[in-house]
Parts: sequence; structure tokens; C-alpha cells
Amino acid sequence: MSSNPFLGLVSSAFKNTFVNAIQSLTAEDSLSLPCLLEFEGSAYTACDNCHYDAVNQRSSGRYKTGGPIAFASGQQCPRCNGAGKIPDPASTTSTVQLIVIYDSRRWLPMGSNNLTAQAANGSIQTLSNADTYDDIRRCNTMLANTDVATESTQKYVRAEEPQRLGLGGDEFVLTMWDKV
Ligand SMILES: [Zn+2]
Repeated sequence: MSSNPFLGLVSSAFKNTFVNAIQSLTAEDSLSLPCLLEFEGSAYTACDNCHYDAVNQRSSGRYKTGGPIAFASGQQCPRCNGAGKIPDPASTTSTVQLIVIYDSRRWLPMGSNNLTAQAANGSIQTLSNADTYDDIRRCNTMLANTDVATESTQKYVRAEEPQRLGLGGDEFVLTMWDKV
């Protein structure tokens, strides 16, 4: 085991500097990227593109004026696919700032994981502030860098439970993701 050159040098002032530095990285407009966390099994809301048929509990197949995608009467509503309801955007997604580490050589160590084996799959690691922990744990999928991402190129699932991380605290969250 090699000795740690920082041993004995890590003062509380150093820890604060470290924490402040990473917090500035996770702030908007820095190295962090906007990422969309998606949750399943959340609330639904009435489709805003068609009239609801309360008797049959589905879309009536009639376009609702002002809806985003006009369609001919009697056709299936293209927005809800006939269900009459759509996932409530407010309860099914959350945009968070994550530092996305694509290069596996720069990943931070996590427990006993074999990170090298995961690298072949196009996996990524993210670092974020502690307040993202609950949402990351709860999400089903994550769309990395919503500025440029498409569903097919940047969609990930959490590889395991996110890990809290910090110098004497739990200031950050480290998470491994596998490509969908
Ligand atoms: Zn509809």
C-alpha cells in the first residue's frame, strides 16, 4: 500500500476549500450539465389535446381546440395515444445539475465496484450536490446534458445506489450510470 502524500496536511480550511471548489463545479454555467431525471409511476393529468370520455375512461377521439397536435375527429389522439391522460410533467421529471465524467480514467473510486469492466458499456459517472440524492435514488432513467441530448444517445439508468461523498461531510453524491 502506498502512503498518502496528503496525510496530516488535510486541515479543516483545506476541506472547506475542497468543498467550495466542487460546489462551484456543480453550479450552473460551470462544468456541470443540465440532466433530466425521469420518474415512472407518477401522477397523470388530463390530456391537453383531446376531450376526455368519462364513461369509457379514455380519449373521446375529439381534438381539443388549442392542443399542441391537431388531429381529425374520430382518429386516435397522437398526444395520449387514446388514453385520455398524459404523465404529469411536474411530477415525472426533475432537471438537476450534474458533473458528467465520461472518461473512465477520471472516475472517482466507489466501494468495491469493478469500474473498468463497466467502462466498455459506455457507462458514465456523475458528481452532484447532496440535494440531488433523493431524486437520483428515485429516478428510473436520466437524460444527460439536455442541451444536446436525444433519447437515443444520452439516456442512462442508475447502475446502483448513489453514494454520498465528502471530506468529513456528505456534501456530494457520486453515481454510476449504464447506458440504456
Ligand atoms: Zn389526448
